[in-house]
Amino acid sequence: MSLLIIDGGHGGMDPGGGSNSHFKEKDKVLEISLYQEKRFKELGVSVAMTRRSDKHLPSGPRTKIVRDSGAKYCISNHINAGGGQGAETIHSIHSNGKLAHRIADALAAVGQNTRRVFTRKWGSNDYYYMHRETGSVETIIVEYGFADNKTDSDRILKHWKTYAEAVVKAFCEHIGHKYVAPGQDIEADHVSNPKPKPNKPSSKWQKVTGNWTGQALRKGQYGKPVGQMQSMLANNNPPFYPEKGAKNNGVDEYFGDKTADAVGRFQSYYGLTVDQIPGPKTYAKLKGSKPAASKPSYVGKRVESKHSGNLRFYSKASWSDSHVAGYLKKGTASRRLFLR
Ligand SMILES: [Zn+2]
Repeated sequence: MSLLIIDGGHGGMDPGGGSNSHFKEKDKVLEISLYQEKRFKELGVSVAMTRRSDKHLPSGPRTKIVRDSGAKYCISNHINAGGGQGAETIHSIHSNGKLAHRIADALAAVGQNTRRVFTRKWGSNDYYYMHRETGSVETIIVEYGFADNKTDSDRILKHWKTYAEAVVKAFCEHIGHKYVAPGQDIEADHVSNPKPKPNKPSSKWQKVTGNWTGQALRKGQYGKPVGQMQSMLANNNPPFYPEKGAKNNGVDEYFGDKTADAVGRFQSYYGLTVDQIPGPKTYAKLKGSKPAASKPSYVGKRVESKHSGNLRFYSKASWSDSHVAGYLKKGTASRRLFLR
C-alpha cells in the first residue's frame, strides 16, 4: 500500500485545457508526475500512479484507482488555462488546507507566482470530482501555471522540473520525511544540513575566503564571499533576501537552505538555470541589475556659459555641441546636473 498516489491529469483523447503550441497539458503533467514518482522512490516514500502513459482515464476509473490505492494523499497535477498567471493549489472543503498551502509556498520559494490556495463548493459538497469522489484520500490539485499566459508557459517549459521538485520537498516536509535534494548523496547532505551557528562555526561548514567575483559558491560554505553574494541579493532591485525579517535579513556569510532558496528565486526571476549555485552568470546578472550610479564618473574638461546662461560641461577638450556631457540649468533653485 502506498502513502501517496500521483495523478497526472487528463490523457489519451483528452489533452487537457492547459495546452498550447508548446505542450499539451496531458504530456507535461505526465512528465512532472513521472519525475515526482522517481524522486519519491529515491527518497523512500511509497508512491503509486493513476497513469504512467498517455492513457485516457475518465473520472470514474481515475477516482476508483485513487480510492483503491489505499493512499493517504493524492497529488493531482494540472496546468491551468483561462486567463491568469501563477500557480494554484486546490484542496477539499474537508481538508485543513495545510498541505495545499505548503505546496503553494514551495512553488513560490522557487520563483513561481502563487495566485491562490482555495476550495470550491458544489452544493454542500466539493466541486471537483478529484475531491468529491476520492473518498478518504486527501487530494490536492496542483495547477503549475497558465498555458495561455506567456510568462507561465515559458516558466513551465524551462522550470517544470524545479516546480515538480518543489512539490516533492513540500510533501516530505508535510509528512515529516527526510528530504534530500536531487543528486546529493548522504555525505553531501551531512554538509548542508547543520543549522547556521555564526558564532561557533561547525567544522562541517567549509570556509571560503577572498572576494566574490563570480566563482561558484555552494550550500555548506561560509565566509566573506558568501556574505558578499548575500549582500548583492539583498541589495538587488527587487531584493532577494536570504531570510527576510531576520537579523540583517539573513546576510550572515553562511550558505544554508535559505540562501540557496534566495539564489534559486533570483535565478528563476532572471531566467537563469535554477541550480541554486551562484556562478559567473548569476554574478553578472547581480552586477548588471544594480541601479545605475547616480553621479557621473567623470568631470567635464571645459565649461562654458551660453544658451540662455546654462552652464555646459564637455566630455573632452572640445567646444563641439556633440561633446556636451551635461549642463546646469539657469535659475534652477537647487543645483541639478542634467546629463545628456
Ligand atoms: Zn487539467
